[in-house]
Amino acid sequence: MSKKSEKAEKKLDAKKLAKELLIPRESGFRQTSEKELGKAAAFAEDYKAFLDGSKTEREAVKTSIALAEKKGFVPFDPEKKYRAGDKVYVNNRGKALILAVIGENGCKNGVRIAAAHIDSPRLDLKPHPLYEQNELALFKSHYYGGIKKYQWTALPLAMHGYLVKKDGEKVEIHVGEEAGDPVFCVTDLLPHLSADQMSKTLAKAIEGENLNILVGSRPLDSDEGDNLVKLNVMRLLNEKYGITEEDFVSADVEFVPAFKASDVGFDRSMIGAYGHDDRVCAYPAVMAVLNAKAPKETCLAVLADREEVGSDGNTGLNSEFMRYFIADLAQAEGMEPRHVLSRSKCLSADVNAAFDPTYASAYEAANSCFLNGGVCVTKYTGARGKSGTSEASAEFMGEVRGLLEKNDVLWQTGELGKVDGGGGGTVAMYIANLNVDVVDVGVPVLSMHAPFELVSKLDLYMTYKAFLAFFENK
Ligand code: MN
Ligand code: MN
Repeated sequence: MSKKSEKAEKKLDAKKLAKELLIPRESGFRQTSEKELGKAAAFAEDYKAFLDGSKTEREAVKTSIALAEKKGFVPFDPEKKYRAGDKVYVNNRGKALILAVIGENGCKNGVRIAAAHIDSPRLDLKPHPLYEQNELALFKSHYYGGIKKYQWTALPLAMHGYLVKKDGEKVEIHVGEEAGDPVFCVTDLLPHLSADQMSKTLAKAIEGENLNILVGSRPLDSDEGDNLVKLNVMRLLNEKYGITEEDFVSADVEFVPAFKASDVGFDRSMIGAYGHDDRVCAYPAVMAVLNAKAPKETCLAVLADREEVGSDGNTGLNSEFMRYFIADLAQAEGMEPRHVLSRSKCLSADVNAAFDPTYASAYEAANSCFLNGGVCVTKYTGARGKSGTSEASAEFMGEVRGLLEKNDVLWQTGELGKVDGGGGGTVAMYIANLNVDVVDVGVPVLSMHAPFELVSKLDLYMTYKAFLAFFENK
């Protein structure tokens, strides 16, 4: 045999080898069938309707309960014995929710949790919000969560208010969502007069105390008295809702972008909306627990509040509300709650930062998630040297990866931006601290925390498929 032909025989098929050994780096669209893409498009329509009806945590709880009750879910009774297939929910103060399906094995092998959050960055009202200055009436706001303040000026805002009067009567105020409603807005300075403002950093250009919401400009028709514009606004609120200025002290009033969710792009492949973080994971988690067929292990979709401010508070996951529910399930089956927790598994369902070519230097491209790459499995979040996060074990990552492959779920992995670029956390660590196996799994988002965030329809649907596969564990 000549030297030449020996070499030819050894020549390897690079294409074939790459397919066997390397991660496919082509668009998710090329890895997904037309039939699946059709299902993704249909799922996105229902999600947009959910989003438009769920702009606050209270509304997300209400909408989710309505969907669950249609599927036979009933309020959980800790005194009752439950059997496989029973469907229950726990409404925690109207701001957080657990939906559960009792599994064939109950909770003896632990429970399966998909935990998302339903609070989003926004402008809350201060307890004494209403004031008048130079014949304009404004509301003082206190922002909630991590916002870039300049993004919240000159933007139509809707009011979603929940007020409780001294006698306990509850008053809901929704203004700015229906066609023909007035909207509200934080003003910004014209460029012509912004020499000082424009020389400041982005963080300083709009101060927290300047996020004042314009709500009126017409004075009360009276010949005497001061602050007649403020008084006129209060008179209108009193006529329509029966409230007085003091009722704002006992209230949760949130101002959110007034627009609805819409398709983005000529190809309609994306959805733009307020509050994808994290309703884009909450909705798939709800739909997965509603649609899970005969799960072996008891399954929980947990919708938490307070994640955007660190998960503290009795509706956040750094509190005991989920642990108490699992303890109730365990004790009803004669088990120690800690044994159930130690055998439990959780997908911490939260968004990750999708690679943005316009801000490429904030990411490390090889370890970022991409729009249309499928659901993102994130081993750890955190900041600097992996602080402020739990980290999924190699074992649990392996298990989840295997499950997704087996169920034809398009998935990818990614870190939250480049090392030392900043960072962030999720509810994962609070659940991991209960001795549960946890990994972050969710949808890649562009413009995260902006009033108008972007996701891909394909990634949304694949996240639903991931949660369903996790619950059904087939
Ligand atoms: Mn989030
Ligand atoms: Mn967030």
